[in-house]
Amino acid sequence: MTVAPLRSAAPPNLGRSWWLREALALPEFDGEPAPPLAGDTTADVVILGGGYTGMWTAWFLKERDPGIDVVLLEQDICGGGPSGRNGGFLDGWLGHAGDLIPTFGEAGAKALIDAVAPSVDEIEAWCDVNGVDAWFRRGGDLAVATNQAQVERWTSTIEAAGRLGLADRMVELSADEVRARCDGPSFLGGMFIPEGATVQPARLARGLRRALMERGVRIYEGSPVTRFGTGRRTVAETPHGSVGAGEAVIGLGAWATTWRRFRPYLTIRGSYMVVTEPAPDLLEALNWTGGEAVRDLRSSIHYLRTTPDGRIAIGLGGVQRGLSRRVGPSFAFDEGFVRRVADDLVDLFPTFRDVPVAAGWGGPINVSGRNLPFFGTAAPGNVHHGLGYTGNGVAPSHLGGKILAALATHDDDELTRLPIVGRTPKRFPPEPIRSPGMLVANTAIRHKDNTEATGGSAGPLTSLTATTPRRLGYTLGPRR
Ligand SMILES: Cc1cc2nc3c(=O)[nH]c(=O)nc-3n(C[C@H](O)[C@H](O)[C@H](O)COP(=O)(O)OP(=O)(O)OC[C@H]3O[C@@H](n4cnc5c(N)ncnc54)[C@H](O)[C@@H]3O)c2cc1C
Repeated sequence: MTVAPLRSAAPPNLGRSWWLREALALPEFDGEPAPPLAGDTTADVVILGGGYTGMWTAWFLKERDPGIDVVLLEQDICGGGPSGRNGGFLDGWLGHAGDLIPTFGEAGAKALIDAVAPSVDEIEAWCDVNGVDAWFRRGGDLAVATNQAQVERWTSTIEAAGRLGLADRMVELSADEVRARCDGPSFLGGMFIPEGATVQPARLARGLRRALMERGVRIYEGSPVTRFGTGRRTVAETPHGSVGAGEAVIGLGAWATTWRRFRPYLTIRGSYMVVTEPAPDLLEALNWTGGEAVRDLRSSIHYLRTTPDGRIAIGLGGVQRGLSRRVGPSFAFDEGFVRRVADDLVDLFPTFRDVPVAAGWGGPINVSGRNLPFFGTAAPGNVHHGLGYTGNGVAPSHLGGKILAALATHDDDELTRLPIVGRTPKRFPPEPIRSPGMLVANTAIRHKDNTEATGGSAGPLTSLTATTPRRLGYTLGPRR
């Protein structure tokens, strides 16, 4: 495998994420190729998109009714999108408590946190029962301040969790306590949520695919849906065949922004990652042997985790190159951004300066105005969607699969009554204002983060621009 020393060359672009390549090299995650759809067929439910949302929905449909006939259509291979490229942070919405209460009230916030919390345990159990070694590790979730401006940014989260009676599920850590877990020289304190876990994301995606095939879900890969017709029966057309179905589920992630009906509620950002070669001795010297999922408290966050063989995988979230109106090739690899992530890794952990980087990659993030996914059903009542995870979808898409399976079987339960189901999501401004406006705000947010990282404070115009999304009622960007 090609390797590049940090800072000297761009991290190698291997075409797919390092996670997906690792998984596909193993027969249990590769399996029989699923051929493209050829000809016309029918099903009870057709699912568009072979990421976690589509696949968990198929799983929970089969749980509800093993005889249900489900077809899943994926343009690439299952897990080829963000579901096989992400950081593998498996956490719910406890860390969002401070944002949830103002939007949903205390009861709504508590209902949402409680609804997604079981997904971490349930994914662990699912992997065990289904023989999927997805490297599940419950190392906890560690949010750290890496500069003075970030110190105590966790206070509002802890206070909000206290109002919901959940304060005992998180703990504030001093700088020494943080560095006893992960000795980043810039770490100044933080907040730890022990229930957080990590997985190898592509192993989870590919394991799900295998389990679905074993259960009789008909999966067609290399089958982009090019036209979609609604009515009493839905029709999903692909280049070489179509599926007519009573119910349809749309789990297209960022690609859904090409659909006119979803465009007002979604915008696209990028997230980019690199993974190093193994350096277990260096990790040990950093005390980082507990598997903690680490993130800093920037608005465009760094997220970092380790692997069983002693690598660091680090990502930078919430970045935007240009107007980003649709998912283009730069979302899979952008040399400037992956190089930046590799440099940031060395800034955070200078002892990794000489450790080669094995690969860099990226993926699109489908951002919703509330920073949470939204689920619903469109007229005439048989087309259901789950979109807008805003960079936090590994555990929430498991909840999403339960919700969508309930919607597609016209069941009404406490999950379908959650305040992210069946409500009109917050709209973004229309074009031509939206994309340039988002780009200006995003540039200001990153400038503010970068200025604070060097000990400075952003000027009034940058701060005003960076906080504009919040002042317009979006749960995006910094509060101040
Ligand atoms: C780099 C990166 C790091 C991330 N890190 C984390 C993390 O650590 N923790 C976390 O919780 N979340 C993280 N996320 C977010 C998380 O990956 C997503 O929220 C989650 O994967 C969403 O799953 P999904 O199934 O809804 O969408 P996707 O995984 O995007 O799946 C949608 C699928 O639809 C397919 N598709 C698109 N158009 C068509 C079409 N016309 N016809 C057929 N198929 C089509 C796509 O190919 C894709 O496979 C990260 C995302 C990225 C990009």
